Amino acid sequence: MENRIETKCIHGGWKPKKGEPRQLPIFQSTTFKYDTSDEMGQLFDLEAEGYFYTRLQNPTNDAAAAKICAMEGGAAAMLTSSGQAANFYAIFNICQAGDHFIASSAIYGGTYNLFGVTMKKMGITCSFVDQDLPEKELAKYFKPNTKAVFGETITNPTVTIFDFEKFATLAHSHGVPLIVDNTFATPVNCRPFEWGADIVTHSTTKYMDGHGVGVGGCIVDSGNFDWMAHAGKFPGLTTPDESYHGITYAEKFGKGAYITKATAQLMRDFGAIQSPQNAFYLNLGLETLHLRMKRHCENALAVAEFLENQEKIAWVSYAGLKNDKYHALAAKYLPGGSCGVLAFGIKGGRARSIKFMDSLKLASIVTHVADSKTCLLHPASHTHRQLTDVQLREAGIAPDLIRLSVGLENIDDIIADLRQALGQI
Ligand SMILES: *Cc1c(COP(=O)(O)O)cnc(C)c1O
Repeated sequence: MENRIETKCIHGGWKPKKGEPRQLPIFQSTTFKYDTSDEMGQLFDLEAEGYFYTRLQNPTNDAAAAKICAMEGGAAAMLTSSGQAANFYAIFNICQAGDHFIASSAIYGGTYNLFGVTMKKMGITCSFVDQDLPEKELAKYFKPNTKAVFGETITNPTVTIFDFEKFATLAHSHGVPLIVDNTFATPVNCRPFEWGADIVTHSTTKYMDGHGVGVGGCIVDSGNFDWMAHAGKFPGLTTPDESYHGITYAEKFGKGAYITKATAQLMRDFGAIQSPQNAFYLNLGLETLHLRMKRHCENALAVAEFLENQEKIAWVSYAGLKNDKYHALAAKYLPGGSCGVLAFGIKGGRARSIKFMDSLKLASIVTHVADSKTCLLHPASHTHRQLTDVQLREAGIAPDLIRLSVGLENIDDIIADLRQALGQI
């Protein structure tokens, strides 16, 4: 029988043989030795498996990726240098100039910019859609050159919940894969492949690392999408790659085709590899992910319930709250809890929000989320400070929105800190 998620967190990935280190070693080496020129040549032709240069692959990275792959229930996975690199590769591996894809407009700001501004300069266009629209309305955004659909399980920072089944049906009926950024939920709380997603991405910088020590990303492929059945749409996978003597990825690598192509082409050419040292930290973080997610969710729900009852608080968004707009979707897709991040607004505008944040003693103001230390950010004053209130609303972010990432401290201490800061305004 397959191990359960808690066991996979600990034992997935690195499998030491007799006499090898019990803990995953850091293979701090750029290169790998072979005995003959022919052995090395076969690696370059993708005719043999093996390591030759850490810009493409490294054993420490691959072990951490294999653990995440097992946790997600995927067929193949790779690490990247950041979540941004993971989302870029995930799309660019199947889109080229002239192609189009669809993404939820509620996704992380960094990804929104990547898709809407930077990839547009590469000739790839993205239609951003209101993810809560009914299926019939969403279907209107598909074009003949549409190659993928993209969403986030739980959006950052608005913490809305993605309706997997609706989007999987839409994507598949149009012959394209569904790609989901599962950063906030982690595979402990949601495994998108079980709901029809084809490819999953992560910013491992967040809960997976969990301690705020290393930036990183990951791409996992379910191996379920049949590229050959839609061969005309995905020539990069279904026609010969001249840079590897004419191999066709979907024919030669089966369920490993998508990740093999991303490694052999995109890592080779862009080099956004994670350092083996960071992959080691990531692997260590993953060993306790199942314990930490449980506590993050318990603490966040307690904070959400506390805030909801405060007079100075205008609104609270957290799918764990019974009257939250996304409670039903969360109950379906995230029955064990969503994440430790919630959003709320303080009555009285920007100045009072700033006074509240500056009065906090335990929670710190940082451009980060999802680690062991409670932290918060006010997009209108920080990440999105160049935007007017009207522009903020257009981006789906309320000017008073505070993103609070609830950590693993004692819940009474977290709430006491929030209470005293509210008392100052
Ligand atoms: C942080 C984040 C990213 C970007 O990841 P980096 O590791 O910072 O590059 C992408 N998606 C989501 C949902 C995130 O929270």
